[in-house]
Amino acid sequence: MKKKFPMLSRDKATSSVNLEASETQHPSESIKVVDYELLETDPGIRPPISSYHPDIQNEVRKAYLKIGRHQPPHNFVYPWSLKGNQRRRFGKNWLDLYDWIDYSESKDLAFCLPCFLFKNVSKYGGDHFVTKGFSDWKNSQRLANHATSSNSHVDCVHMSYALMNPNQSIKAAFVNQTKQMNSEYRVLVNTSLIATKFLLRCGMPFRGSDESFNSLFKGPFLELVDTLKKINPKIANVIDCALGNNFMTAPTIQKDLAAACACEITQQIVCDIADDVFCVLIDESDDVAGKEQMTAVIRYVNSEGFIKERFLGIVSVKETSAKSLTEALKKLLSINGLSLSSIRGQGYDGASNMRGKFGGLRTLIQNENPSAYYVHCFAHQLQLALVACAKTHKDVSGFFGKVNMLESIISFIF
Ligand SMILES: [Zn+2]
Repeated sequence: MKKKFPMLSRDKATSSVNLEASETQHPSESIKVVDYELLETDPGIRPPISSYHPDIQNEVRKAYLKIGRHQPPHNFVYPWSLKGNQRRRFGKNWLDLYDWIDYSESKDLAFCLPCFLFKNVSKYGGDHFVTKGFSDWKNSQRLANHATSSNSHVDCVHMSYALMNPNQSIKAAFVNQTKQMNSEYRVLVNTSLIATKFLLRCGMPFRGSDESFNSLFKGPFLELVDTLKKINPKIANVIDCALGNNFMTAPTIQKDLAAACACEITQQIVCDIADDVFCVLIDESDDVAGKEQMTAVIRYVNSEGFIKERFLGIVSVKETSAKSLTEALKKLLSINGLSLSSIRGQGYDGASNMRGKFGGLRTLIQNENPSAYYVHCFAHQLQLALVACAKTHKDVSGFFGKVNMLESIISFIF
C-alpha cells in the first residue's frame, strides 16, 4: 500500500507548537530552538538541510513537515516560460495530483519536500527536485516518474513518515523487538533456573552420561527442562524457537546458575550472622583429581538464639600448609564480607598443620585474633575414638561395616 506523505497545514502547525525566538540568524550556526517564523519556506531560496547543525537537523525536518508544502496563494498566476516555440507553465492541478510537490513562486521551480528533507544527493545523485528545482513543464511525466520509479523518493517518504510517527519507526520496531527478545530470554533463563534450584535443593547431579538428542535419559537437568516444556506450552515454544543454540541449557550456563544460587545463599547466611561473632570449622583434603581443597563451615548464633552451622565454601589451595590455608581463609571471609577479627572459635582436626602450636593454622589466626579459641573438633575426636575401637574390637568393626553397607543401599535407592 502506498504510504501517504505526512503533512500538516501551516495554520495547524503554527498554532499547536510553542515557538521561541531563534538565537541566530544563519541556519548553519547552532540553533537550539527551531523558529517556524524564521524558517525559510520558499523552496527556491531555503537553505539545504545539511547546512544546519546535525543536532537540530531532525528538528528542522519536523518543522518543515509540520509547516507542510509550500504552495502559492490560490489567486497566484503561474508564469509562462518559453521552451522553443511553445509556452509552458506549472500545472495548478499538479499540487493536488502529487502530494509531495513544493512550488517556489520566486523561482518558478518545483521541488520535492521529502527528498529535500532526507535525500542524500551525494549518495543517490540527481538533485532536480532537491536543490536545483524542476522546470521542464513539457515533460510533466517526470513528476509522475519521480514518485513511482525513484527508490530514493520512496525512502524519503518513509523517513518522513517515521519522523512524524515515532511509535511506528524502525527504532520503535527495534525497541519492541528487543522487548520481545528480552521476554523470551527471561523465559529461557527462568526455566533453567527452576531446574537448577530444584536439583540443588535435592542435592542431585545435573549432567547425564549421554546428553545427545536421541538419548533415552539426558540427565536430570535436561530431563527436567523437557518436563517443564511439556507442562507449559509457552516454554516449549520459546525454547523450540530459540535462535541458534541459545537454549540456555549448556553445561557452562548450568554452572553459572548454580554459582549464582550459591552466591545468593551465602549472602543470606552472612545476613543471618548480622555482624556478630562466629566460629570456623575447617578441614582440608584432596579431590578425586588430587587437587588440594579447603572446606570452611561457620558456626554462629542467629538472631533468634539458635545455633546454626552453615557451609561457607570450598577453596582450592596450592598446598595444605598452615600459611596457605590461612591466606585462603582470609580470602574466603573477605569475599563474603566477614572479618577475621569476628572469629571466636576454631575447630580443626588434630593434624599438625592445623592445630600446631608453632606455625599451625590455629596459631597463625590467633596471632591476629587472640579471641579465636581453638577446640579440637569433637566430630574428629569421635572418629578417632571409633577407629581405635574398631581396630581392637571385631564387633564394633562389624557394626560399622553393616552401617556403611546400609547407608550405601539406602542412598542408592533414594
Ligand atoms: Zn521526492
